[in-house]
Amino acid sequence: MSSSFSKLISGAFFVCSSLLVSAAPTNKVLVIGIDGARSDCLLVANTPNIDSLWRNAAGAYRFDAITDKITVSGPAWTTMLSGISSDRHGVKGNKQDDKGVFVGYQPACKTFLNRLEDFNPQLYTASLSQWAPINGLMGENVDYQTSGKSEVEIRDKTVELLKTKNPDAIFIQLDDVDGAGHKSGYDPGNDTYIKAIETADAHIGEILKAVRARPTYQEENWLVIVSTDHGGRKKSHGGNSNEEKTVFFIANGPSIQPGELSQGVITADVAATALAHMGVPIDPEWKLEGKARGLKQK
Ligand SMILES: [Zn+2]
Repeated sequence: MSSSFSKLISGAFFVCSSLLVSAAPTNKVLVIGIDGARSDCLLVANTPNIDSLWRNAAGAYRFDAITDKITVSGPAWTTMLSGISSDRHGVKGNKQDDKGVFVGYQPACKTFLNRLEDFNPQLYTASLSQWAPINGLMGENVDYQTSGKSEVEIRDKTVELLKTKNPDAIFIQLDDVDGAGHKSGYDPGNDTYIKAIETADAHIGEILKAVRARPTYQEENWLVIVSTDHGGRKKSHGGNSNEEKTVFFIANGPSIQPGELSQGVITADVAATALAHMGVPIDPEWKLEGKARGLKQK
């Protein structure tokens, strides 16, 4: 075969394979939870990385989303991850049993990572939660589960995961904003609390950079969701005030119809949106209370 002919042939294969690849990108999802980040305070803080996911119609958003009626981390994270409220998932507080599972948890109310594993065990799922008890919900079928002593540790482990593995669905939880709220007050006028939100934003920037630096990024269709489990009032949360129950929902990616969402959002929508993006048929038997939000109509 002449060399020019073989070049032509390999060129033709190259064109064909890149067309095939661009026709079917691999859906992937990253859910970022910032514990105790009050919606109005996020808007006051200087957060260029989170802003890049929604401002100027970069993504879909609501800043008056509502969390579980129990504004405590155990129940509220369970609601976000399962798409089912505490009335049914049964977690009422942060207490765990001797297996590290929240007391009261109804295992039928699976997290979206577990449902993804049920749908396709080949998917690589990961939960990186600074606050370890969240991983108690994941059972054994979530491929990578880790906790961390600091936000930096969670950030670095997430970046490492994106660099060295091929994750399909990731949940991360950053805990220091809530810590700052408990110590110094959840308040838009409190510099310490606002600064903690800005630090979380910088970590998120590193993680987003790692997503976009993946060699296969062009063949991937990432949905990034950012939300929180609850707000706060004075130095605590757990009550029913607007400051505690109002949260934000941000969704960004090629599958998202950008702009402010026309309907109200609840944190249970996070799980439903992630599952819909990943092509998992929602079984009515699951009785999900959340709905997919912001995805373009197919
Ligand atoms: Zn707290």
